Amino acid sequence: MTRVIVVCSGKGGVGKTTLVSNLSSALSQLGQKVLAIDANLTTPNLGLHLGLHLVPKTIHSVLKRRAKLSDAIYPHPLGFKVLPASMSIHELTGTDVGRLGEITHSLLGKFDYVILDCAAGLGREAISAMSAADEILMVTNPDMPALTDALRTSKVAQDANKKIIGIIVNRRKGKYHELRRDEIEDIVGVPVIAEIPEDQNIPKSVTVRTPVVNYDPKSPASIEIRRIAHKLTEIPFNEKSRGMGIFERVARWVVG
Ligand code: ADP
Ligand code: MG
Repeated sequence: MTRVIVVCSGKGGVGKTTLVSNLSSALSQLGQKVLAIDANLTTPNLGLHLGLHLVPKTIHSVLKRRAKLSDAIYPHPLGFKVLPASMSIHELTGTDVGRLGEITHSLLGKFDYVILDCAAGLGREAISAMSAADEILMVTNPDMPALTDALRTSKVAQDANKKIIGIIVNRRKGKYHELRRDEIEDIVGVPVIAEIPEDQNIPKSVTVRTPVVNYDPKSPASIEIRRIAHKLTEIPFNEKSRGMGIFERVARWVVG
């Protein structure tokens, strides 16, 4: 069964793209077949996080019916697949974001996880990404502006009968003014399933276009992100384990 999960926030810059790239890699390390989709069509950057920003065919070409879906899906060297977006502003013209659901529907049965990187806000683009998924992961920072936007997004998701898996609190610095886990749960009414600390390895890993779970698997943020992948798959978490070895993963792709 394919799980189609959209990573949303409301507010921009809270860590959605970072989570999508890292969760894709962490799930792939657990032997899952994963496709990461850049559904942020106006301000895309998943390709930048993963070194796939200069590709000829993109989700924009597919939504404009200028390319076949299979031609815009690229294998990442870390084992998962990516449907990146075009960095060119000109590609936006004529892009029918309403067709995102057709794309995810046609992928059912082909992957274990399809993970969408959602646009910020609650415009047509974000709503289309939410509609194209069955489940939602909410990302927020532990401050009121981010949480207020997360609350609005969660209301829209609930009204659309989407399952909210939980909230991921990103960039926790441990300062006294930050919202606590129980405060966040009380305000949004959704459980917090992970708290990712502020970790300088993340901006460093973004600079070299590699997920932090691969750049520095033992860093505090990597451990928390790997824990989320274990939670989703219900594979018991062992801090020392880095998932399946490369041979097991290749075998799984080949054998299915
Ligand atoms: P969004 O997709 O929600 O706009 P990004 O994933 O692009 O957010 O993250 C915004 C910036 O924040 C990135 O440059 C990233 O390096 C940084 N960042 C994200 N999470 C962390 C973290 N836990 N610690 C430090 N920096 C982070
Ligand atoms: Mg982003």
